[in-house]
This record gives sequence, structure tokens and C-alpha cells, in this order.
Amino acid sequence: MDNNEFRTQAHRLVDWMADYWENVEKYPVMSPVSPGEIKKQLPQEPPHEGISFDKTFADFEKIIMPGVTHWQHPSFFAYFPSNATPPSILGEMLASALAVQGMIWQTSPSAAELEEIVMKWLARMIGLPDGFEGVIQDTASTAGLVSLLTAREKKSDFQINRHGFSGNEKFIVYSSAETHSSIEKDVKIAGFGSDNLRKIEVDDNFAMIPEKLAEAIQEDLNNGLTPLAVIATLGTTGSTAIDPLKEIGEICRRHDIWLHVDAAFGGTALILPEFRYMIDGIDKVDTFVFNPHKWLGVNFDCTAYFVRDKGALIRTFEIMPEYLKTGQDAVVNNYRDWGIQLGRRFRALKLWFVLSSYGISGLQKIIRRHIEIGQWLKNQVDAAHDFELLAPVPFNLVCFRYHPDGIKDENRLDNLNARLVDAVNATGKIFLTHTKLKGRYTVRLVAGQYRVEKRHVETAWDLIRETASKLTV
Ligand code: PLP
Repeated sequence: MDNNEFRTQAHRLVDWMADYWENVEKYPVMSPVSPGEIKKQLPQEPPHEGISFDKTFADFEKIIMPGVTHWQHPSFFAYFPSNATPPSILGEMLASALAVQGMIWQTSPSAAELEEIVMKWLARMIGLPDGFEGVIQDTASTAGLVSLLTAREKKSDFQINRHGFSGNEKFIVYSSAETHSSIEKDVKIAGFGSDNLRKIEVDDNFAMIPEKLAEAIQEDLNNGLTPLAVIATLGTTGSTAIDPLKEIGEICRRHDIWLHVDAAFGGTALILPEFRYMIDGIDKVDTFVFNPHKWLGVNFDCTAYFVRDKGALIRTFEIMPEYLKTGQDAVVNNYRDWGIQLGRRFRALKLWFVLSSYGISGLQKIIRRHIEIGQWLKNQVDAAHDFELLAPVPFNLVCFRYHPDGIKDENRLDNLNARLVDAVNATGKIFLTHTKLKGRYTVRLVAGQYRVEKRHVETAWDLIRETASKLTV
């Protein structure tokens, strides 16, 4: 493709993208295709000769689009949102055109220095105290791993990096029973073994019970084990429960235990002063992560990872081959040493565009609107005699189930609600997912898409009730 054709096709694609967003509500939110339906339409062998872009793009529209689930649809209420705002997409476009590989400062000083500045902005925006330094990671899963590896190295005086495990470490990691599954994965990858992850009991609000954490730590100490790290979550995946950071932090301080905060979704709410209570206790935190790629309007991937001890982070990951040494190493941030990957995309650009375009007040308005809509739905569910709330609603995720009068059997209720979710999703009008809370099948509805308006959630609530009323119970 020469530059002229690139120009023509790129203009066409920008129009296509703008049309897509304008018309996104016309698509079924969740792709209705069956497993295998997409791949059977694609050639099984790669083309020997190049094919015109027009033909490939025609296949994209015909074959690929039907298999897309529309995360940018305002009635995408599933999982947590992954918002892509126009300024963020423009940032992605430029980043892909510049195609910078920002492994070290010299490979693009702007990538390194813009990242440093926008991470400072973000720290301010969410109320982190001075002393935290930020770096963009790909995902919260990776940030959790980076945190645990740093904790491991600091505890072993950086000896495990050199010699491997001696076999005597017996490190234990603690999280609540509601912590995201990525933490268990991180514990496995870090070499601790998933048996050494203690899942601490939660209270009726699904938040970690600090007394249970203290008891588990004491028991492990009594057994000669080494409590290494605690993960506290601000906004759990199941129900957006908020772990009590202050009490957890005090326990960690008392026992010299590393404290990582996973605020992947909930962290964005910290741009609202009324949610700053969540980080009461932040002075006792070692590392903190949240995902602008969930609720702050920045395209996936963009995870904001903040650390108090930058030296320990760098010492954990630093590698200094001759070919990467530069004359500026002492005075710049070489982000290759701030995490796992060497090569890095220019992700700061899209983050910068979003923060600049909306400003703090623009983003606050959006987040407040989502929370208001979520609270509206919470009140509807609460008032409906045949529905019940299954968890508190601190933000915009409502956890509920259909519970017609007279049905007491939990298996029947689980089955009924699973059928309800399948039936509403099959309409293509909305997309909901579920979880289990206290063993009960729980319907989750997150009103967090940047296009969502109250009318979309009103329509969803009507659809849910109407569909439920038609189910055989
Ligand atoms: N932590 C929490 C609380 C989450 O809800 C999620 C994903 O939904 C993650 C971590 C993992 O996020 P990522 O996809 O960025 O690894």
C-alpha cells in the first residue's frame, strides 16, 4: 500500500468509525454468532499474493463485524466497561502511525516524559499523596504481578532474583475471597504457589474482614511461615465492595507486610472528592493500581500503576545489556526497567488526549452521571416486590436477582436467573453478565459506558422485568 492509497483508505476508515459510533445502537450488543462461525468463513491458508485492501475490508464488514461484541454500545452493561472515547482513539491512531517503541528514554524522549507527566496528573486527580510515582502497565493483572515480584525481591534482599528460591521462604499472600482472579494467577507466576494464597473471609458487604486477616497472619506466623503481601481491593469485580484500607494497612504495618491496592475499576471514582474516603489509609500502601482503560475513557490497554519505592521496583526488573546503555541513564526514566516488558507502546498519548479533552470536571461529570444512573436502578430494584438487591451499590454496579413470591429453593432461583440473563441477552438489545455472591446466582448490571443515558437503563429495566414475567418459574 503506497502513501496515496493509505491516505484514501485512512480517510474512508475514519468516516467508517464515525458512522459506527453514530449507529452503534443498531447492532446487537453481544455478538449472536455460534462458536466456529467466523473461522469457517475465513481462508484456512494465508494468501500467496497480496489482496486489495478493498476486498479485505469488504470481508471485515461481512465476516468480522457480525462476530464483534459491541463494548461501545450504550447498553453494554456486562463485566466492567472498557471505554474508548474519541480523543483516546485519536491518540491510538497517532501512536500507531508514529509506531514508537518506547523502551528507553532515547527511543522517544517524548514518550518517556509525557508518561511521567500524565502519571503525575493522574496521581493528583485521584488524590494520591506525594511520594507515589507512576508508570503505565498493560493491565492490572500485570501490575499485580509486578507488585508481588517487587515485594518478593525486597523481602529476600533481591536474592531470589539472583539465586532462585532457596526453598525456605514459605511466602504467604493474602486477599479477600472476592479478589479478582488475576491475583491468584499472579501468585502462581511469582512462584509462591496458589496454596499459599489465603482468601480472607468477607463481611455482609463483601469487604475483607480485617480481624480475619489479622488472625490468618498470626496463624501463619505461629506456623513459621512468612506473610509477604496483602492485596486490598477498592471495587471488587463481583459487587464493587470496598475493602477497609485503613485497618488493613495498620495490620500490614504492624507485621511489615507489603500492601498492594487493586482499584482496577473503582479507582476512577477517586476523581470525585466524595469517594476519597476509600483511600483513607493510603499512607500505608506500597503499590496502587487502577485502570483508565475501564472507566476513565482511555482505550484498552492503559493501566496506571503507582509505587512508593521506585528504587525497589527498578532493582527488581533492571537489566543492563551493553546495547541499551545510554549517556542519559542517570537523569531520565527508562521505563523498560519499571515492569516486565522491554518494548512499550506510546500509551501516554491517548491518556494525555483524554485528560486534556475532558479536563477533570468533564470526567467528573461523566462518572457522577453513571453513579446517579446506577443509584436510580438500585432504587427501582429495591422497590420491586419480585426483585431483590444482592449487594450494596457504592458506584454504578447493581447486583440483583429475580425472586418471584413463593420460591424458596435456591437452585430454582439460580436456574431462573440464568435463564433470565440468557433471554435478555438473546434480544441483542442489552448485554448483562452474572456472578455468584454468597453462592447465589447474581445478575450484574454496570451503567458505565460513556454513551449511556438514563433512558438506556430505563429500557433495560423494562426489558428485564418483562422478560422475567414471561419465564416459566
Ligand atoms: N482487578 C479487578 C478488581 C478487576 O475487576 C479486573 C478486571 O475486571 C482486574 C483486576 C483485571 O484487569 P486487567 O484486565 O487490566 O488485568
